[in-house]
Order: sequence, then structure tokens, then C-alpha cells
Amino acid sequence: LEPAFQFMLRVVAPGGVASAAQWLVMDKLAHQYGNGTLRLTTRQAFQMHGVLKWNLKKTIKTINDTLMTTLAACGDVNRNVMSSPNPYQSEVHSEVYEWARKLSDHLAPRTPAYHEIWLDGEKVVDSKADVEVEPIYGPVYLPRKFKIGLAVPPSNDVDVFSQDLGFIAILEDGKLAGFNVTVGGGMGMTHGDTNTYPQLGRVIGFARPEQIIEVAEKTVTIQRDYGNRSVRKNARFKYTIDRHGLEWFRGELHHRLGWELEAARAYHFDHNGDRYGWVKGYDGKWNLTLYIQSGRIQDQEGYLLMTGLREIAKIHTGDFRLTPNQNLIIGGVSSAKKRRIAELAKQYGLTDGAHHSALRRSALSCVALPTCGLAMAEAERYLPHLLDKLEPIIDKAGLRDEEIVIRMTGCPNGCARPALGEISFIGKSPGKYNMYLGAGFSGDRLNKLYKENIGEQEILETLEPMLHRYANERNSGEHFGDFVIRSGYVSAVTSGLNFHD
Ligand code: SF4
Repeated sequence: LEPAFQFMLRVVAPGGVASAAQWLVMDKLAHQYGNGTLRLTTRQAFQMHGVLKWNLKKTIKTINDTLMTTLAACGDVNRNVMSSPNPYQSEVHSEVYEWARKLSDHLAPRTPAYHEIWLDGEKVVDSKADVEVEPIYGPVYLPRKFKIGLAVPPSNDVDVFSQDLGFIAILEDGKLAGFNVTVGGGMGMTHGDTNTYPQLGRVIGFARPEQIIEVAEKTVTIQRDYGNRSVRKNARFKYTIDRHGLEWFRGELHHRLGWELEAARAYHFDHNGDRYGWVKGYDGKWNLTLYIQSGRIQDQEGYLLMTGLREIAKIHTGDFRLTPNQNLIIGGVSSAKKRRIAELAKQYGLTDGAHHSALRRSALSCVALPTCGLAMAEAERYLPHLLDKLEPIIDKAGLRDEEIVIRMTGCPNGCARPALGEISFIGKSPGKYNMYLGAGFSGDRLNKLYKENIGEQEILETLEPMLHRYANERNSGEHFGDFVIRSGYVSAVTSGLNFHD
């Protein structure tokens, strides 16, 4: 008798876009083979938990039949390409999404093994060198995973500086002129190992839209050739950049491109969160952003979120857009369908989340226990309870409508980008967290360790006076992350090289 091994499946959705038909398939599979829930990840992908080993193949085949894939959702390759899902500002958002999709296609592994193993493809016996099978990755793939995100200012919702490779859209006269290129960001570290640290991506120049695929390909090949393959903890691209220097990288990139990036252009980010409710897009269609706690799609007593979304998907002719903040946009709603979809959203309480405190609406957590094998502490299941206890404090301080970016992960791998939280908690052991403060509100500055290995009581006792001081002493428009630096709680961290100082 074989043990009932269960697996997590991650499904790629470049830019977080899935059709209504694809949503229905994911919903059905979650019930048929998963644990009856779906999770929207911080990289705009789907996760399905609890898939038993003997159901894996059927699940993966059905996902592929609906033109989605699990290929390269994990592994030492380019992961799900993120892009701003917010459709309301301009046509540029659609254009940027198309570039995200093209980048995703271009950097997808070419190996036929996936099809052979999971999709009953014919065995391909190829005596040619593997390098011909994988022209970008070569025979041994990358030293570590690789992450790309495209942001459209003023929203930095993809946390572009957390990406190995980032593209910041530059608009001129309302048109997409190109992208500033950032390199060397990343969130993960290891507790107690100061050779590991989160890092911010740095802007190295500007490329025109049609040039970014080549920039991405050459960047990936540089990491393939120079990344550390001996020490896995130092294998991410950020360490390659920090080891060799930014100027070396720029020179190597220009050499491989055969042309040079232009000088970076001006841009401005003012936040990295989501904006909720209905907005009309440039195409005259409507888009409804829903708050989804920790990205978990499930039915609970009195809150039939999964059922409500299924009912919407049955009549919806647009798409679903997974946001980098684990929320969901019902996108491209026609005027004819808007009324019915609004009714369904109300009937199932899907828009109630917009009334939560701004702190809760700005919260992000990773999965952690019980499904992540690396977790040292709770995150998804605990953060809502911590928020329950923090909300009376912020209410008393008059901060209910103040957006403060708060993040929690079960370990320092950083899946919920905790180094970019104005307040963050990284799990150390059950019930104990390291507490970090002082990241930039728009995701442009790292936070810093403030207290180590603390439990709930100490978290609340630490934050309560700090939040009251913030309410009373902040400057006009000053964000919490800036306040804790100005007030001397922590020093500003603008490079991962100073993270542990
Ligand atoms: Fe990622 Fe660690 Fe959270 Fe697991 S516990 S989801 S590895 S951050």
C-alpha cells in the first residue's frame, strides 16, 4: 500500500490573468483533487494544495487542456512573470501585460520532459546536446530561481525592486516609451547567516519595449554563467551582482547585447498596494477589485467567497486578474453584465472586505503552516488574528484609514516580500517572530530588524505606543515606515549590504 503523499501545485498565469473558463476549471480541480480551496499567490499565480500523488497527472493534464501550465511555476528557471494587473489607468497597462506574456513565453523551458511525463507526450530521444533543447538555460538550468516583474508607475504593486530583473514602464505623452531596467533584487535570507540578505533591485538604464526580451534573455544567461553553483544560499542573482559589481554587470550585458542601454529616465512610485472597488477602464469596460484575505479562496460559514466567484465566473465574459497583493480583479466587465455581477458580489459579501481597516487591506502573508514544509511559524492562519488584536489599537489611535504595509512569513525565504513591509514579521519558531520596521511605502527601501524572537504579547506591547506616537507626532503625509526612521526606532536600509549592520 502506498502512503497518500500530497502535493502543492502552482499554476503559471503571466501578469495574473485567467479567463472565466480557466477560473472555473481551477475551481473544479480544487474540489475534485485538491483541498477544496485555491490560493492566489504573491506572484499572481494559483496554488492548489492537497493534491494526492495518484491525482497529480490528471490534475496537470486538465490544467494544460485549459491552456494554463504548471511548467516553470517552480524550479531553477524564470518563474511566473509579474505585471501590474490594474487596468484602469491607460492602454499602457494592456501593452505592459502583453510584454509580460511574451517574456514568459520566451523564457519558458523548452524541455520535452514535462510533456513526456505529465501529458503523455511521446518520448523524445534526442542524441543532440542538451544545450540545443534549452538554448537559454543550457544543460543544467540556472543556479537558482529567477523572478521578473513589470511595474507601471505610480503603482509599484509588483514590488519591482524585489525582482531579480525588473522593468519600470516609462510613459511619454501617454504612450509606452520603454522601460527602466532594474537588476539584483530579492527577498530571501537565512536566519543567523549574514552572508544572506534581502536586496533591492537597482536601475541600470532604459530599454525600448521591443528590446526587453533580449535584455531579459542576456541577463538570464549571465546569471546562468556567473551565478554561484557551489553555495545554494548564495546562488540568487542578487549575490552575483553584489559579488561582481553593477558596473561589471552592465558591461557584460552590453557586451552580450552588442548595444547599450540608454540612460535611465525619470519615474515616480507612490504606493505598492491595491485600490479596491469598481473602476472604468480605458476600453469602457468595468473592473472590480476585491479584497481577498491572504489570497485564500474558500467558503466559510457566512462568507461563501468561492461559491460567489464561481457564480460570477459562470456569467462573466471578461477575465480574472490575480494581483501581486493576493487580491482579485473581476476584469473587463461589460456594462450589460456589471449590474448582475455587482448583485452577485453583494449577495456573497465579496465587497465587504473594502470596509476592513486600511491596515488589514495592506496586509500580506505567505502560506506557511500547515502546507509549506519550510515554515517555522504560522503566517496565513495567524496574521488575521494578530490584525484582530491590532485593529482596536489603530482604531483608538485614529489610524483606521491609514495604509500601513504589514507583512508576515513563516520563514525568511520571503515569499510575501517581508523585507518591504513597513511592519514585518518573519517566523523563527512556533509563535515567535523577528520584527522588522521601516520599509518604504512604495517598496523602495528595505526594513530593519527591530526585535528578535518575540511572541504576540510583546508584539502588541511594542506596537501600541509606537502607533500612538505615529498618530500624534507624524508629519503631514508621512508614512509609518518613514516615521519610525525619523523617530529613531530603526535606521534606513537602502541596500541589502547594510541590512544586518
Ligand atoms: Fe515561503 Fe517560507 Fe512562507 Fe514557506 S514559510 S511560504 S518558504 S516564506
